[in-house]
Amino acid sequence: MRAYFTDPLKLLKKLDLTAQQMNFSPTAESQFSFKVPAAFVNKIQRGKIDDPLLQQIFPVQQELNHQTDYQKDPLDEVNSLSRPGLLQKYHGRALLLVTPNCAVNCRYCFRRHYPYADKGHLWKQIKHNIQLIKQDSSISEVILSGGDPLSLADDKLADLLKSLESIKHIKRIRIHTRFPVVEPERVTRQLIETLTHSKLQIIMVLHINHAQELGRDNQNAIAGLRVRNITLFNQSVLLKGVNDTLEDLIQLSEALIKHQIIPYYLHMLDKVQGSAHFEVNEQEAMMLYQQLRAQLPGYMLPRLVREIPGEKSKRPIY
Ligand code: SF4
Repeated sequence: MRAYFTDPLKLLKKLDLTAQQMNFSPTAESQFSFKVPAAFVNKIQRGKIDDPLLQQIFPVQQELNHQTDYQKDPLDEVNSLSRPGLLQKYHGRALLLVTPNCAVNCRYCFRRHYPYADKGHLWKQIKHNIQLIKQDSSISEVILSGGDPLSLADDKLADLLKSLESIKHIKRIRIHTRFPVVEPERVTRQLIETLTHSKLQIIMVLHINHAQELGRDNQNAIAGLRVRNITLFNQSVLLKGVNDTLEDLIQLSEALIKHQIIPYYLHMLDKVQGSAHFEVNEQEAMMLYQQLRAQLPGYMLPRLVREIPGEKSKRPIY
């Protein structure tokens, strides 16, 4: 966790860019802190204002243009909590928030305003939440989320898996993470051993928005995860200025399949305050998706969906 950039101006210096060129906003940064690992920074092109990776992480003036339909909690998660740190939105699945920390702070994140601190220490609530999962035999899958669950140290993660393995009705663990992509060194031997020795099936959902995020340094990390009981999927968010062209989306699917990662979802942006400049509207998204569908074989085509608060599954857009 040492090689992180937490000062936007230092990053700009490294990239030969100025604060003015990038529309840097210290106010936006104070609202959602800046954090990006060096491995991700190394894939940003120098001197390129519209680099698709830089666009995802840099705090800009446009974040302050508040629009009424953009909310602090766009998915109404705070009201959907069964109790702090436990979400049960969909049948058979329970989502455990295990940490507020991430490898990278993505400016469009739908949890960028999530009141983690008000909800108490998530890790301390885990034991109680596991008891609740134990009492509900309709739950067969536990989704580890946060933040990024791989922010947890290996031994904590191993303890958590052991506790879940002891529950008879749990068959699968799903881990949503950006670590193997933005900080591949996080995929340690111990992590791989912990996951492969689990009695449960492990589904790992990566979050990659652009083919440029996958470099040589990710090959070993991803190959390490392509083992016995781990299935790799990817979900992306359709983001203006990042991946909203046909070429970007084709290249992304090609890169995923090359790494044996299944393209799973292409999400419409969740309307979180500060992210309106990333919006691709439904009409534009559908046109793009129609073209994508004509170009790619079915197994390379992610499903275009939107999450609607209160609905029992994601809503297909196309
Ligand atoms: S939860 Fe995911 S999208 Fe949000 S900041 Fe963390 S890594 Fe990025």
